[in-house]
Amino acid sequence: MSVIDTLRRAATAEAAAAPSAIRLHARPSPQYATHLEEARAVLRQAAVLGPVSQASSLGAEDVVITDLIRSLQLPITVFVLDTGRLHTETLALLERTQALPGLTVEVFRPRIDAVLDYVLRHGQDAIYESAELRKTCCAMRKLEPLERALAGQRGWITGLRQQQSSARADVPLVDGSEQAAEQASPGRIKFNPLAHWTQGDVWHYIAEHRVDYNPLHDRFFPSIGCAPCTRAVTPGEDLRSGRWWWESEAAKECGLHVRPAGTPGGHDGSPAQAGADARTDHVDHAGHRGHTHHADHPTTPSSAALRRSIRT
Ligand code: SF4
Repeated sequence: MSVIDTLRRAATAEAAAAPSAIRLHARPSPQYATHLEEARAVLRQAAVLGPVSQASSLGAEDVVITDLIRSLQLPITVFVLDTGRLHTETLALLERTQALPGLTVEVFRPRIDAVLDYVLRHGQDAIYESAELRKTCCAMRKLEPLERALAGQRGWITGLRQQQSSARADVPLVDGSEQAAEQASPGRIKFNPLAHWTQGDVWHYIAEHRVDYNPLHDRFFPSIGCAPCTRAVTPGEDLRSGRWWWESEAAKECGLHVRPAGTPGGHDGSPAQAGADARTDHVDHAGHRGHTHHADHPTTPSSAALRRSIRT
């Protein structure tokens, strides 16, 4: 056997042994086909609303949605919030996404004066000192750029799934709660086309359609945010446990997706609600996904009612 053949074999064996999010997670639910059609219907409905953008973190759910938008050739733009603290792997995926034909990808960054002021006052790593300083950082690097990204939009599209955490357990396919809460800028609707998808559905789609994804997912990062605030998860932990891991469950979420308290699925940040996070998906590194309460419920009244509101 030649040296090149030996090297090739070694590379193939190494690739086979390497962890792969697809190998671990790509197991479609029995409702996968329904979920896929539902997501396409929600995106088509969003596209006719007017200016609508997809908010992409470039995570697994978001690359699926972007691929659906491209394959359906919908007039929906994509925007990414580059907080200035993203992983190099995420920035590389952003570049590759921007190069995709038939897609408009806009990047919104925090105001440089706000960043400088924060770092000079509190230090680069003040996020670990208190939940308040962490949330101030999220407000400066995410929420303010988000407001600019959403200016003039009639709606936005997210990759939220009900199974990601109990705070998201009631996420609807179409969410008008922000519209009701923001009387100053009426008309903004949030679309969550993957609301009913399982993690297995997401990875099955990625595998089936050969969608480019963040290699950090292969290193046990199920949820990817800023580098200082994201870590790999360990066996048995739920999918969001790698985010702001030093904080209590009640403090988590960056504010992008906190719905007004009192609305269905609204999160008031209370310990009681956060405590219910025990009911979320978790994963072991052998690829066995576990969850308790809110697996797929395609026939629950709320889901059925929502589906009726979608033109399929
Ligand atoms: S996730 Fe972390 S680094 Fe990113 S904006 Fe929030 S606190 Fe700042």
